Amino acid sequence: MSELSKIIRDEIREAGPMPVARYMALALGHPQHGYYITGDPLGTDFTTSPEISQMFGELIGAWAADVWHQIGLPVAFTLVELGPGRGTLMADALRAASGQPGFAKAARIQMVETSPVLSRVQQATLDPIVSKYGYAEPEWLSSIDQLGEGPLIIIANEFFDALPIRQFIKTDDGWREQCVAEVDGNLVFAPSATPEPGGLLLAPSLKDAPVGAIAEFSPAATAIMTELCQRISNTSGAVLAIDYGYTKSAVGDTLQAMRDGEFVSVLDAPGTADITTHVDFEALAACVTRGTRAHPVTTQGTFLRQLGLAQRAEMLKRSATPDQAQAIDDAVDRLTDDDAMGTLFKVLAVTAGNIEPAGL
Ligand code: SAH
Repeated sequence: MSELSKIIRDEIREAGPMPVARYMALALGHPQHGYYITGDPLGTDFTTSPEISQMFGELIGAWAADVWHQIGLPVAFTLVELGPGRGTLMADALRAASGQPGFAKAARIQMVETSPVLSRVQQATLDPIVSKYGYAEPEWLSSIDQLGEGPLIIIANEFFDALPIRQFIKTDDGWREQCVAEVDGNLVFAPSATPEPGGLLLAPSLKDAPVGAIAEFSPAATAIMTELCQRISNTSGAVLAIDYGYTKSAVGDTLQAMRDGEFVSVLDAPGTADITTHVDFEALAACVTRGTRAHPVTTQGTFLRQLGLAQRAEMLKRSATPDQAQAIDDAVDRLTDDDAMGTLFKVLAVTAGNIEPAGL
């Protein structure tokens, strides 16, 4: 039994069934045994777009440089990445954006990361890039509370899917919070003993959900998005969120766990598998505050094509061996095909009022 499994069972014995949000927070972020705290899962348990191809981060670098132009080329702004993994996206973005005169000098780089292991990996990835292109030393933050003053350009790829969600299950007598309980020594899902007093505040389309339906909310995701919107409405800037998810809020159980590239049970050996959910982009877009706009959500395939993925691929292929050229074509397909990441992955940009983000 994993160390964290014991800790979770002890807490359930003491306090009763554990809400899914608490389980997910412990499995991913327990200070000693959390999945993201103990290791570098990228490339073994799962892979992400920036790890598939440098073109992904390069196009996002060009996207960020375009936002910087639209803000009016401020001499100081902060480029932020939330949940930067191995730092690959930021490294490719910084390299690409350094072609814009003044960008490297103006950018303060902040990496928001909870994992000490991944922070070290990110630092090693960024060190040669920042010194080569003349960026200031990046900073590492454990939360968005310490974001820089002034305009903000914020990138989040596969960040929101890792934030804890609350799940509610419709029963005969109303919605109950979905919990993790212990039965005969095993962890199992079980609804809370009593229905939510007053019911749930649900989108009208979800009100008639059948018994057994599951509704998901991520208070952590909406709190972060709301805070970011408030910041950019005060100081200007943009947030770009890319993730797997759905455009319209809907019922459905999207909690999933992955180990070694395979789906496994969410309750199996917590702390040893990546647990994620599909992101509710309608809920994220609804976090806009006065002075910010949520642009219509698009798919990753459309977004990357509109940013010029095909042209970038052609350019790279000019100096590639036949094997490398094939790998570039394969990466384009993986990032944009409907049966790969092209449609499942969605893109949301929230910007200060006057900005028209590229690709959307
Ligand atoms: N964006 C990267 C990695 C995605 S994996 C990529 O595209 O390759 C999720 C990342 O979010 C990891 O770096 C993980 O450590 C980080 N993370 C998870 N929960 C977090 C939280 N609450 N605050 C900050 N970072 C978090």
